[in-house]
Amino acid sequence: MGEELREKLFAKREEGWSKTDNKQKEEIMKFADEYMAFLNNAKTEREFIKCAKKLADEHGYTDIINKTELKAGDKVYFINRGKSMYLAIIGENDIQEHGMHIIGSHVDSPRLDLKPNPLCEEGGMAYFKTHYYGGIKKYQWTTIPLSLHGVIVKTNGEKVEINIGENEDDPIFTITDLLPHLAQEQMEKKLKDGIEGENLKLLIGSIPVDDDKEKERVKLNILKLLNEKYGITEADFMSAELELVPAFKARSLGFDKSMVAGYGQDDKVCAYTSLSAMMNLDKVKNTAVCILSDKEEIGSMGNTGMESHMFDFFISEILNKLNVNKPNLLDRVFCLSKMLSSDVDAGYDPLYSSVSDGLNAGYLGKGITLNKYTGSRGKAGASDANAEYVAWVRNVFESSDVKYQITELGKVDIGGGGTIAYILANKGTDVIDCGVPVLSMHAPYEVTSKYDIFSAYKAYTSFWTE
Ligand code: MN
Ligand code: MN
Repeated sequence: MGEELREKLFAKREEGWSKTDNKQKEEIMKFADEYMAFLNNAKTEREFIKCAKKLADEHGYTDIINKTELKAGDKVYFINRGKSMYLAIIGENDIQEHGMHIIGSHVDSPRLDLKPNPLCEEGGMAYFKTHYYGGIKKYQWTTIPLSLHGVIVKTNGEKVEINIGENEDDPIFTITDLLPHLAQEQMEKKLKDGIEGENLKLLIGSIPVDDDKEKERVKLNILKLLNEKYGITEADFMSAELELVPAFKARSLGFDKSMVAGYGQDDKVCAYTSLSAMMNLDKVKNTAVCILSDKEEIGSMGNTGMESHMFDFFISEILNKLNVNKPNLLDRVFCLSKMLSSDVDAGYDPLYSSVSDGLNAGYLGKGITLNKYTGSRGKAGASDANAEYVAWVRNVFESSDVKYQITELGKVDIGGGGTIAYILANKGTDVIDCGVPVLSMHAPYEVTSKYDIFSAYKAYTSFWTE
């Protein structure tokens, strides 16, 4: 009797792999291979958007700028300054009465940016000075191979694209750390103070120009090389955006190859799974919108971040080109819409179990996680999804056999976090956070489960085809 009752009454949270047959396993592994290949070509927001545009073009999407009219079934996108992108498929239902189904992720990830005056020479070595981007543990970014990505824009408008350190025959760069023999003082420091921000200096060269009358001869030699290759001078760094990211590739992790280790999975794992889901959609009932935003890791500000009105502009363009726009319609459409804020969640790490409440943690391999709310210290700053909406999302997932878990980011008062959820919620949209649990989040090498990656793909598909 106990067993029967238990079966009927207890909430189930099952490990996913053991219920997966060989054919499904193959499908999961194949999807993960495609994901890893994409990650390796899309380590920065600009590269992600470039790859996403290519995919969208191949799948029949058009830049909304080239459309004068829209109708059900049309597939469009808008690219915002090469760093964020919105895609949409016009639904058969009237957008004025049914709103949109939105999935929103971000394509920026924690990294090291070059300072505007980066180049210096010390002790016969040339360095780039950096300023870190997003929440990092600084010690994790020393003594690993780093690659340099980004753009340098000259005053005549010419844009030089940089990508050094990804090909096997490219050089890489690194940030040195103190040898243990001389690190007594450093080792006594708090972990957060062990490596200082100003000391995140990238080692970039050591050969001087052949003229001993000159000062800073190594720096001069570096500039000579850069000038020969890219036609730039030191001043051109002022109008550059150069980012350092780990040079290693995304790889399968474990004897069983059940996981993915890779840089930037926060939040490219949700960006990729939602983008792929959108690429495989055909006709939809409700207008489906996919957001790939920038600047989430530093607060979503600026004109490529989600706080900007650029997204409103895109939706207004859709309403204009559907020939339905009128005063207040944009507000109305947002109020009628539903959204999954597709951002990663903290995975339960048995090595650090003390920060999690086991009953409310997200486990790798148990499917996508839903965060009803985020925030910290008594839910401060949280966007809290309404129970009615959570029930609606549960029903969508359960009807499509999507494995999900509902979780909190860590124990009460231990920390917290946030996503872009509140931004759309503030416009009146029903929003819940829904993403993939990650280990070592924000580290140069993050870990996810292939089972959860595929669950995300299935979850996003079910949300859009509901
Ligand atoms: Mn994130
Ligand atoms: Mn993050």
